[in-house]
Amino acid sequence: QGDRQTYVIANWKMNKTLAETAEFFQEINSSNDVTVVVCPPAQLLYPAHLFIKQSGKPVHLGGQNVHWADKGAYTGETSTAMLKDVGCEYVIIGHSERRQYASEDDSLVNMKVKQSLMAGLTPIICIGETLEQKNSLQTEEVLASQLFGALNKIDSSHFIIAYEPIWAIGTGQSATAELAQQTHAYIRSVLKQMFGEKAESISILYGGSANQSNAAEYSKMPDIEGVLVGGASLKAKSFDGMIKVF
Ligand code: PEP
Repeated sequence: QGDRQTYVIANWKMNKTLAETAEFFQEINSSNDVTVVVCPPAQLLYPAHLFIKQSGKPVHLGGQNVHWADKGAYTGETSTAMLKDVGCEYVIIGHSERRQYASEDDSLVNMKVKQSLMAGLTPIICIGETLEQKNSLQTEEVLASQLFGALNKIDSSHFIIAYEPIWAIGTGQSATAELAQQTHAYIRSVLKQMFGEKAESISILYGGSANQSNAAEYSKMPDIEGVLVGGASLKAKSFDGMIKVF
């Protein structure tokens, strides 16, 4: 749609060895129609950067998480400068697994988004409702509150939104393309309240059991500018299948 960029993004989560990483970048294809981003675990970022360079393929690199501070006494954390130093251009922020297992809330997400934008990294901001919230018809309320929280006092629209309903992540129960489109249109209406016409150029990706078979349906929708993929991104062949349809 218009000048919206289309993305197919891999979130490997806590998976893959060094050897498997090398193999993935040998096998993967890329396309000029879509921006391909791979987000390996932190320890594999630099080798991944070298493998991508070696391959000559137009694949971009992203972190799965980042810290909000410049540097200092934060054991186990990764800064925006470190991500940039090893070749990252993108970073996933506020993934539901981090919200669940690392107690990340919207105000922390907001700090990380600000820090990433300042560093020139493109944040991929994840939002999404639980099954319970969906069943009690709270989806729109939850998403609006996550958007207002994550984007509080942010002027730049140089970010990507990933709509990832929690009930669809890793469950095989993907949202239908129609439901995802309807929700994406709602997300864009909230972004319009916040950013005016600039919201038209923000890419909104779908995530949640997206795979080779259902990707084509998402790609036809006017407000779905790509997919954020977990499980189906681990095999180069199935990830390629998704790159081809977008
Ligand atoms: C994710 O966790 O970002 C995701 C979309 O996972 P999956 O594709 O495995 O549902």
